[in-house]
Amino acid sequence: MTQPPPCTRCGRPSAYHRPYSGERLCNPCFTDTIKERVQRTISRHDMLQYDSRIALGVSGGKDSLGLLKILTEIEEDHPNAEIIAISIDEGVTGYRDEALTIATDACKTLGIEHITTSFKTLFGLTMDEIAASPRELATCTYCGVLRRRALNQAARELEADRLATAHNLDDMAQTALLNLMRGDTNRMATLSPGGHELTGFVRRIKPYCDVPERESAMYAYLQNLRFQSLPCPYAAEAQRNDIRNFLNRMEKKRPGTKFTVYRTALKLAPQTHTETAGHCNSCGEPTTNQTCRTCQLLEQLQKKG
Ligand SMILES: [Zn+2]
Ligand SMILES: [Zn+2]
Repeated sequence: MTQPPPCTRCGRPSAYHRPYSGERLCNPCFTDTIKERVQRTISRHDMLQYDSRIALGVSGGKDSLGLLKILTEIEEDHPNAEIIAISIDEGVTGYRDEALTIATDACKTLGIEHITTSFKTLFGLTMDEIAASPRELATCTYCGVLRRRALNQAARELEADRLATAHNLDDMAQTALLNLMRGDTNRMATLSPGGHELTGFVRRIKPYCDVPERESAMYAYLQNLRFQSLPCPYAAEAQRNDIRNFLNRMEKKRPGTKFTVYRTALKLAPQTHTETAGHCNSCGEPTTNQTCRTCQLLEQLQKKG
């Protein structure tokens, strides 16, 4: 039996090879590097202050539970900072229920305050109902727009000054290419890891944006986190799946591709971010249009239904 090559950090036998950096890592050192990377991302983009009140979107998947664990550890060194977990029940029978239980249990274990709100309460519709009704757009589009609204509203009501989401590097690189292929450079601004100060919106931060999906899965596994691995039954955004496969192939051939794609997209993003112009005529939430995107989508559904 040949011994695995030594860990680049401590010299013990390694268990993981990180192709984009050349490192070989044992399990404890691997775990350390993920936490250190999140800390670096937070400080590089000035994401937090010593007394930030952070609302974290927790879906019950590996990314949000991993980030919850790391933020909880970081918070222990900052007694004036606070974390509150927010889960959104989109109303997907047989899928969301399990994830919500997992999220609730994880928060209990870590001693984190946890609140849940639902599409049904906020918008009068579940994702099951939206998926079943005649509509113009993919289910993921409705879900994404409504979830962003729900998270912002909940975070604002909790008087949080940051809204953290657990998008990983793969999510960010995929979204970057999707925006590019749709010719939408304006939307590149939403990829900003540190977010923007906009009236009516809680500043969004993405502390997990430098963690590749594969490493997020490994971190969750090594930390023994119970998470939901079932994919959403409605997740069939064909173009995103194509891009995911393409990026995974390229990453294999040229390690570091995902980082390059994401960093380049950030350079293309508009640097100036204007204040939101006003309030939606229907719901009063901040928007640059007369009617906000959430109300536009809900109106379309009502007309068709
Ligand atoms: Zn090591
Ligand atoms: Zn509205």
